[in-house]
Amino acid sequence: MNRFFDDMEIRSTLRREEDNNLRLSAMVDSGYRHSKRVRETLDKLGLKPSDIVSTGDLEKLPVISRKKVAELERCEPPFGGFCGENADIDRIFISPGPVYEPHLGENELWARGYFAAGFRKGDRVLNTFSYHMVAAGLTFHEGLKSAGATVIPSGTSGTETQVQLIRDLGVTGYTGTPSFLIAIINKAEEMGYDFKKDFGLRRASFVAEPLQPSLRIRFEEEYGIDTYQMYGATEVGDIAYECSEKAGWHICEDVIIEIVDPSTGKCVEPGRQGEVVVTRLNDIFFLLRFGTGDLSSIVEENCACGRTSRRLSGIAGRVGDAVKVRGMFITPGQLARVGEAFPRIRFQVVVTREFYRDFLTVAVVEDEEYEAIDAGRFRDVFNEICAVKIDRIEPVKEDLSDKGKSIIDKREWE
Ligand SMILES: [Zn+2]
Repeated sequence: MNRFFDDMEIRSTLRREEDNNLRLSAMVDSGYRHSKRVRETLDKLGLKPSDIVSTGDLEKLPVISRKKVAELERCEPPFGGFCGENADIDRIFISPGPVYEPHLGENELWARGYFAAGFRKGDRVLNTFSYHMVAAGLTFHEGLKSAGATVIPSGTSGTETQVQLIRDLGVTGYTGTPSFLIAIINKAEEMGYDFKKDFGLRRASFVAEPLQPSLRIRFEEEYGIDTYQMYGATEVGDIAYECSEKAGWHICEDVIIEIVDPSTGKCVEPGRQGEVVVTRLNDIFFLLRFGTGDLSSIVEENCACGRTSRRLSGIAGRVGDAVKVRGMFITPGQLARVGEAFPRIRFQVVVTREFYRDFLTVAVVEDEEYEAIDAGRFRDVFNEICAVKIDRIEPVKEDLSDKGKSIIDKREWE
């Protein structure tokens, strides 16, 4: 046990729910007194703070998108009324927009995620996120520090500098995007090094970019780097992280997560996919129900690592890119994963309406690879990744229409 894998993380589900309800209730109470935004929102809906006392009550409030936060901040700079007057703000970060984010000096933001990824005292970790203006550099830095590691603030320095630091400082870990790590490895090889033999970098924690399964295998098998993913948003901080089981991302202890239907803002049935909506329990920035625009679902089963928090299944894609088919979202990201399993097949999903029902066709280019398709396996893999059954697989002689698109929605609604 450690303070980042403590009683909080092994609480019973009921206990966590009760704790979160109390904290939410206190946040709404305080928000009503200190934040113009919370006051206005509740008043307009005819609600009192005492109407929001449990996670389930959050549905009474609207989901606020990133765009909306920026808009409100533009109208009422700097914080759009979300922040308490005279709040004790430790620092202010700036995201493109600009969006201004007050921070409370939550030095332990991300610490649970880094701890779960195995970062400890004695580790020397490259933090390749920008320290300029944005929250990333500093908040990841402090998370690593809290987990016990020594941090090298290499930021956005070029790959050659990063290779030099890995070599000279005996770097053991990395945090940043997967694409930058592979660029660093490529540079090292170009410089004549054998990355696995010559260097001691054995652990990596990725944020801000999806980790392709094939790239993960390369990092782990070819380069001996144990890889982990974390998930968050600059407006709300850390949201979820992988543990050593690598089967879903544990939801952080200071956030309430809802999975909602983006068209209604209401929670979907357990296990179903929807937009990740986050409420960070705190007493400074009163952003209730922040809509991330990311699609995911909740894994309900217990995790073998011992943490009792629910997990996100990973990020399936963005709300705007997704097409809803028979109640499930299909995203270009999911189709790319299907494509990874069948790298030689060119296909495209076409959604139509037949007999008042969504009909899913997969158009497959009938080239020399076509004969080799194991249609049964294709259907199984597709169903496993997208959770929607294929109605018809259709060979097409010519090339796919609208080639750049992996999914086309041809439904017409009267
Ligand atoms: Zn776990």
